[in-house]
Amino acid sequence: MAETEVVVIGAGLAGLSAARRLVAAGREVVLLEARDRVGGRTEHGRVDEATVVELGGQWIGPGQDHMYALVDEFDLTTFPTHDHGASILEVEGRARRMSSNGRVPPLGAAAVVDLARGMARFERLARSVPIEAPWRAPGARAMDGCTLESWIDENFKTRRARAFFRVAVEAVFATEASSLSLLHAGFYAHSGTSWETLLGIEGAAQQDRIVGGSALIAERMAADLGARVHLERPVRRIETSPEGVRVLDRHGGRWDARRVVVALPPTLAGRLEYDPPLPAMRDQLTQRVPAGSVIKLFAVYDEPFWRNEGLTGQALSDRGPVKLTFDNSPPDGRPGILLGFAEGADARLLHRLPAAERREATLAVFARHFGPRARYPAMFLERDWSAEEFTRGCYGGHLGPGVWTAYGDRLRRPCHGLHWAGTETAARWNGYMDGAVASGYRAADEVLQQLG
Ligand SMILES: Cc1cc2nc3c(=O)[nH]c(=O)nc-3n(C[C@H](O)[C@H](O)[C@H](O)COP(=O)(O)OP(=O)(O)OC[C@H]3O[C@@H](n4cnc5c(N)ncnc54)[C@H](O)[C@@H]3O)c2cc1C
Repeated sequence: MAETEVVVIGAGLAGLSAARRLVAAGREVVLLEARDRVGGRTEHGRVDEATVVELGGQWIGPGQDHMYALVDEFDLTTFPTHDHGASILEVEGRARRMSSNGRVPPLGAAAVVDLARGMARFERLARSVPIEAPWRAPGARAMDGCTLESWIDENFKTRRARAFFRVAVEAVFATEASSLSLLHAGFYAHSGTSWETLLGIEGAAQQDRIVGGSALIAERMAADLGARVHLERPVRRIETSPEGVRVLDRHGGRWDARRVVVALPPTLAGRLEYDPPLPAMRDQLTQRVPAGSVIKLFAVYDEPFWRNEGLTGQALSDRGPVKLTFDNSPPDGRPGILLGFAEGADARLLHRLPAAERREATLAVFARHFGPRARYPAMFLERDWSAEEFTRGCYGGHLGPGVWTAYGDRLRRPCHGLHWAGTETAARWNGYMDGAVASGYRAADEVLQQLG
């Protein structure tokens, strides 16, 4: 049994940011983390002594000011995502090269015009959604009553434009358009500036990577917090009484505090026991923010041989099980690393296969895009985020039809001495590392105001 002023639950970027802000304000803090590491949805996979791959979140881009500020604070540096040469676009079984300057997808004139019109319409819709309160958007109820899939059907005339847009949706949300409320999709695009920003590289969300890997940020923040961080402490129960809040973990640990920051994705927060129970509307909200499905797959080669062929290493395809690839090599290009994403239905399909077949299926896609050499990597790594007990799916929680308008105002509202953080609660850059950091700062500010 221990006493402190504030318990923070979850040492992802949100919990770490909340804890650091509270400590900076002179408060006593205990940070409880279920895993044997910090960082949550940011994690490194080791390739060799000098090289890691980011198994979770990795890119940052303009407008993500909190993340760039942390990079500077910890004397880290960034490097641009490799984007020189031509990318591959494969739609309806036909692969074409797409120059990285042009960015007009070679889909045929009718589909290109259709796509441009539909995207412009979607951008306008997104801009109409206020990111602090999406349920106040003009026509919010109608938008929330509709799936993104039905909007796609109505707003694109050509099969190819639809196929391209659907692949983009899966890349951004790790789930199908049929499980997303149109209002949520618009909110999410506006939250990350625009749909174009979410999809792009230079000047957009995939612009930069952190030298040495993104998980360094969480590691540095945890080092700063020192003994306040308690690993392997999975919280199971929270009790609130007039005296304060008691947090109990699975191993018999107990902490008494004045306030608690729950920095978990809503669906995991909903798996904790609460006494008294959470207010009904908050509990129902946690039942309605499911995570997507994503597996990141990496093949490591002596060198990025695709660069010699004038290829960026990027491929976008409507054919699974890996529809999106990137060159994920370190800054000096040694070793060469291809990264593939399996998202939504593809992730669920690969999840069911034995590891050897998953590897085979991935390498077959890499070989189709980048030639037979891709079949023979020196090393293969993967991370299936749905299979992680303390994450349960990625990239983040999404809201299906009807949820924003019925429960949206409960997302951040504190109750029973509890404050909610985590990227899913962010207005700006919701779902991203930057949103996680911002949410931690916001929750810490709420607590500081309460403590007086
Ligand atoms: C494959 C993938 C790719 C991504 N790509 C990008 C990207 O390129 N750029 C970007 O900005 N974002 C990306 N993201 C999203 C980004 O990683 C997340 O938005 C961010 O890391 C979330 O941080 P968080 O602190 O909100 O949540 P989390 O990182 O999930 O932190 C929650 C913490 O709580 C812990 N926990 C869970 N249950 C308990 C419990 N009962 N008791 C105590 N602790 C508990 C968890 O172990 C975890 O450490 C990606 C995510 C994934 C998975």
